Amino acid sequence: MRIVEVREATASIASGIRNAYIDFSTMDVSVVRITVDGAGDGRPVVGYGFNSNGRYAQPGILTHRILPRQRAASAAALADPESGLVDPARAWSVMMANEKPGGHGERSVAVGVVDMALWDIVAKAEEKPLHRLLADRFGDGSAEDSAWVYAAGGYYDPDKGLSGLRDEMRGYLDLGYRTVKMKIGGAPLAEDLRRIEAVVEVLDGDARRLAVDANGRFDLDTAIAYAKALAPLGLRWYEEPGDPLDYALQQSLAEYYPPPMATGENLFSHQDARNLLRYGGLRPDRDVLQFDPALSYGLVEYLRTLEVLDRAGWSRRRCVPHGGHQFALAIAAGLGLGGNESYPGIFAPFGGFADGVPVEDGRVRLPDSPGIGFETKPALMDLFGRLFD
Ligand code: MG
Repeated sequence: MRIVEVREATASIASGIRNAYIDFSTMDVSVVRITVDGAGDGRPVVGYGFNSNGRYAQPGILTHRILPRQRAASAAALADPESGLVDPARAWSVMMANEKPGGHGERSVAVGVVDMALWDIVAKAEEKPLHRLLADRFGDGSAEDSAWVYAAGGYYDPDKGLSGLRDEMRGYLDLGYRTVKMKIGGAPLAEDLRRIEAVVEVLDGDARRLAVDANGRFDLDTAIAYAKALAPLGLRWYEEPGDPLDYALQQSLAEYYPPPMATGENLFSHQDARNLLRYGGLRPDRDVLQFDPALSYGLVEYLRTLEVLDRAGWSRRRCVPHGGHQFALAIAAGLGLGGNESYPGIFAPFGGFADGVPVEDGRVRLPDSPGIGFETKPALMDLFGRLFD
């Protein structure tokens, strides 16, 4: 198998929403299309990758470092010697040649985009949906055919008000979701508590079906003030209270917040994940880890992160990746994670899962089509066509 073409482009996912830290008015993603020949019967196979929302496109790193290394590599350096298929782990080493360790800035996003496309290719070449390929390669062969998902929304919007927030959440329940998430930290505590109360009402008073997300906004005092106010509610989780790299802040919150907490979407390497588990005070019996494989060097690195978890005594069921994309959904079902984030109606067409597959009782089924399943989303395929043809 030989890589015959690699195309790279930037696509907008701009919208008017904002969380406690950023707005999305200029948000974009990198997209790649990789074509290989010589798979199985010699037919060409095309794979697609893109990065997740919340980090910007990485055209510079892709075109200056990552893709030239891949282009310069021999077919043998990229191939699994047994199957002849492109090997994402070998490709990862090629892409990361001459990169210093540490400083896991946004090169992890660039590598993750290419890694996604390569896994799409491998699964298509083996004519399997990615979740089944992953269960066969890395598990006992039993992939789950659905995954738990929750609806992440509740962004700040000046025009929405409490009734708009309630309507938004009712809409998610109507779509089949059982659990929802909303933003906090972009308004004073008293106002956020009113917003939370409004959403809990929609959830029939069951706060365990609501997660809240501060997007790393709080200093220690504010994080503690929110922890004290939120703890009696018994929410599903309290997400990313402080800076993602402030492990001491995270650790000190456990004293004030016995219910579940969640974090990890802004940690981009297995070494950072290891530090979080070592120093963040997280509790393996209840807390949730949200590393996003598309943002953090792809699935090759995510497998290393799962090894770190295993050695630290954490179940992979505690993982619910950030991002709301089909790649993480396939990984969740194939590797037995706890579930996956979902952003109904936001970040389209990159976000969301197979068209015509409803969420039922908080779970979504995986498609049977080979690869990651992008071909089950015509609007996404149309966009790929416009970018590259
Ligand atoms: Mg978050």
